[in-house]
Amino acid sequence: MNAPAIVILGTGALATARRIQALYVERGAHAAAGVATACQVHALQGRVEADVSYSELGAQLRELYARGTPIVALCAAGIVIRCLAPLLSNKGAEPPVLAVAEDGSAVVPLLGGLAGVNVMARDIAAALAVQPAITTSGELRFGTCVLNPPDGYALADLGQGKRFVSDLLAGESTRIEGDAPWLDDAQLPRSESARLAIRVTPRAWDGREDELVIHPRSVVAAVVSDDADADSADAIVARVRAALKAHGLAMLSLAALLAPSASMADPALAQAARLLEVPLRFSDAGAEPGETNAARLLHTALRVPHETLHDDAHPNVALALCSLAIDAATLGRARGRLTVIGLGPGCAELMVPAARTALNEATDVLGYDTYVKMAGPLRADQRVHGTDNRKEMQRARHAFELASEGRSVVMVSSGDPGVFAMAAAVLEALEASSNDAWAAVELSIVPGVSAALATAAQAGAPLGHDFCMLSLSDNLKPWTIIETRLRHAAQADLVIAFYNPVSRARPWQLDKALDIVREYRAPSTQVVLGRDIGRPGGTLRTLTLGELCSADVDMRTMVIVGSSLTRKFACGDNGAQWVYTPRWYE
Ligand code: SAH
Repeated sequence: MNAPAIVILGTGALATARRIQALYVERGAHAAAGVATACQVHALQGRVEADVSYSELGAQLRELYARGTPIVALCAAGIVIRCLAPLLSNKGAEPPVLAVAEDGSAVVPLLGGLAGVNVMARDIAAALAVQPAITTSGELRFGTCVLNPPDGYALADLGQGKRFVSDLLAGESTRIEGDAPWLDDAQLPRSESARLAIRVTPRAWDGREDELVIHPRSVVAAVVSDDADADSADAIVARVRAALKAHGLAMLSLAALLAPSASMADPALAQAARLLEVPLRFSDAGAEPGETNAARLLHTALRVPHETLHDDAHPNVALALCSLAIDAATLGRARGRLTVIGLGPGCAELMVPAARTALNEATDVLGYDTYVKMAGPLRADQRVHGTDNRKEMQRARHAFELASEGRSVVMVSSGDPGVFAMAAAVLEALEASSNDAWAAVELSIVPGVSAALATAAQAGAPLGHDFCMLSLSDNLKPWTIIETRLRHAAQADLVIAFYNPVSRARPWQLDKALDIVREYRAPSTQVVLGRDIGRPGGTLRTLTLGELCSADVDMRTMVIVGSSLTRKFACGDNGAQWVYTPRWYE
């Protein structure tokens, strides 16, 4: 489970928030408690400072909820309910949500009964020395949620589970068959001769109403291709389903799909694992004679005792049945991933959700230190590899090395990763490499809001017609090329967005560039300067080409020089000014 986000609105809640945080920080230190993320206090900007700041409560709660992050909100239960109401139709994917009184006097579990909200409520209440406001009847009676088995186990059927619990509440008792250590401390009415039974088994539930069936994820399915032609995802899924069915095993008992390392880049396998809703792992088949290929895969990947189930008529699929739930992360290895993302100009709202998802799923984050900090807060279990801004190729190669070990690597750039940033360096490293393991990495590039676009949006629409983006840095290209391009762009009346306009090592380049532009554009040409757009202290200025001088610009500035048609107007009493380039031409 992820650590909860503790959300506060004012200083009055900070002390209680820190007490709750201490509970989860302590747990994070003990991996056994299963808390994999850092627990942080999210505080309303301008009112109180803590670990993460947010500007609007509703948006913050909805984002956390949508990401599946457990929420402890130190405010009125009604506020939380109203904020989350638009998202509440899907009961299946519900993280725990609790309201806690600012002074710590009340702990109210609101949502996420099947995700352990009552366990959290009990823990937090105990830490605050109050009684939790538990309202779930089964929970009150038995001291645990019977329908919420721990990680590695799955309830066969929720509807049947609810009927079963209401039978228990009506006074029946139950037997427990199979291994259910998490129920040892539950105050369940037990009896060996009971009509009802809780059965922990990988076998499929046969529909008997007097049983609550819980499946341990204890089966691994290994698949290999029949011949040189790879199978479709549907064919792989059908094969796995048929094998499970032939042995009377439940789909929910499946812990992982295992395939040969040589087929790591096969998209059908990835799709099949998604359809089966299990992790995909890879292994190399050892050379044990007398076993089918798929069975051999299992043999090399599984370190725990298991029974191999296979059928000589279907050598391309084999199942391993273990006595306990299996952690898929211990089997063979995953296909490594490298995702190159852009953070946008700086603020969280301008980062695309796919980049946020990649960061959440990353085991390793690489990039220039400043950007890695901007990507945070990261979890304690995520490895950060910050480097100097100029060692780009080295960083790209490092990313592939980590990803080819099976890790989930995210490379961060600011703005868009393809605009004067890391995506091209990553592809250059890949093209130059003959390493098959690098080629097998799942590479993707997630776009971002580039500085020119973010600056333009604040100013209005200066890029409303044809434009070009030019980097004035001559670190990686000769200055003569820059001059030629500038001259052509200026002559073609393109709006020009200048990246990397100046730096301490490149003091004269901007003045030279402006001299060239001035040969073609009038002093009245509109110019927009965006500095630290989307970051704290960001500023936007509009001026003319005649007024612009290089002292107005530094390396954190985006310079947009308008075309002959780019115009500016003031609007309304407050003097708002807009710059835009019309979409027509005379
Ligand atoms: N990949 C980035 C650009 C990297 S080049 C992107 O797509 O935005 C770095 C240059 O981008 C800086 O020198 C500056 O000119 C510009 N820049 C980056 N972030 C900016 C911001 N937040 N505000 C203004 N300019 C920015």
